[in-house]
Amino acid sequence: MEIKIVRKILEANDFAALKIREHLREKHQRMINFMSAPGAGKTAFLEKLIPVLLKHELKVGVIEGDITTTCDADRLKPLGIPVVQINTEFFGGDCHLTANTVFGALKEFEDIRLNIILLENVGNLVCPAEFDTGSDLNIVLWSVTEGEDKPLKYPLMFQKANWVLITKVDLQDAVKADIKLMYENLRKINPSLKIFEISSKTNFNIGKLAQEIVNTN
Ligand code: MG
Ligand code: ZN
Repeated sequence: MEIKIVRKILEANDFAALKIREHLREKHQRMINFMSAPGAGKTAFLEKLIPVLLKHELKVGVIEGDITTTCDADRLKPLGIPVVQINTEFFGGDCHLTANTVFGALKEFEDIRLNIILLENVGNLVCPAEFDTGSDLNIVLWSVTEGEDKPLKYPLMFQKANWVLITKVDLQDAVKADIKLMYENLRKINPSLKIFEISSKTNFNIGKLAQEIVNTN
């Protein structure tokens, strides 16, 4: 009985995700879904990435997903771009974004010309991976402070990822992170991953990432 209900929810989500893809195609927009555990540095990365994308003359919009608060949306305000906040507490406090809630947020951008929409999912390595958001690219951030075993413990998240950003590499010596082992564990779970190392604190590879995103346009 329970299995049946779960399957129905996921089927409904897949249908909504399909609708989002049609909508984005019609508007010639791309959407990137950023997922990670809480505190891996999604918002910090967006704060650094977005100004570079703007320099490349991309028109950027952001959808922020959180259970409650507008903390992350407030941090992006100084960038002067359109930001929509989804608080899932109004939809039962989900610890992930569903395609339906994302579609609702996209409608807020209806009259704005955008090239690219950056979606910051709820910080969580489990269920955001189960719910297709209709995005063109899934980017998972994984910080050197989290331990090298995360892909083995949360395989679905890393299987759904197209790219993984190993974040906070400026801390790798301080926390004795074994980045080689991080790569090995990523490859074990998903051999086709594109892997980057970044630091939002020192700006390491931020420009490179922006260029990669521009190139996939
Ligand atoms: Mg955040
Ligand atoms: Zn969830």
